[in-house]
Amino acid sequence: MCVFCEIVNGNIPSTKVYEDDMMLAFKDLNPQAPVHILAVPKVHIDCANDINADNSKYVAHIFEKLPEIAKSQGIDSYRIINNCGTDAGQTVMHLHFHLLGGAVFEEGLV
Ligand code: 5GP
Ligand code: ZN
Repeated sequence: MCVFCEIVNGNIPSTKVYEDDMMLAFKDLNPQAPVHILAVPKVHIDCANDINADNSKYVAHIFEKLPEIAKSQGIDSYRIINNCGTDAGQTVMHLHFHLLGGAVFEEGLV
């Protein structure tokens, strides 16, 4: 079972900031910004390549909730990042969205 499935199951501890029946959001172990939250679906999806008509409701749900999660962390300006595949820097093969904020970032990422 993957690390984030273990976190969803409670077998690996995490600092949860939001949870419901479809998703979990918790603090990144190695934060890259003052606010660095990971939002994951409660079902295992390897990466963005594997989003389909059956599971896209989890992704939509996460994006519905991210603004209020950001607000709960005291930010209303943020980046949402997804790395898909090892060449893109994905290290945990369970779909997740990085919510980064609390800092002033360089203008434009790409
Ligand atoms: P990726 O590089 O796959 O997009 O991001 C994986 C993220 O998961 C990294 O930012 C890393 O710090 C975080 N991470 C890896 N293992 C754990 C863990 O066990 N707990 C938490 N909270 N974060 C983790
Ligand atoms: Zn998983």
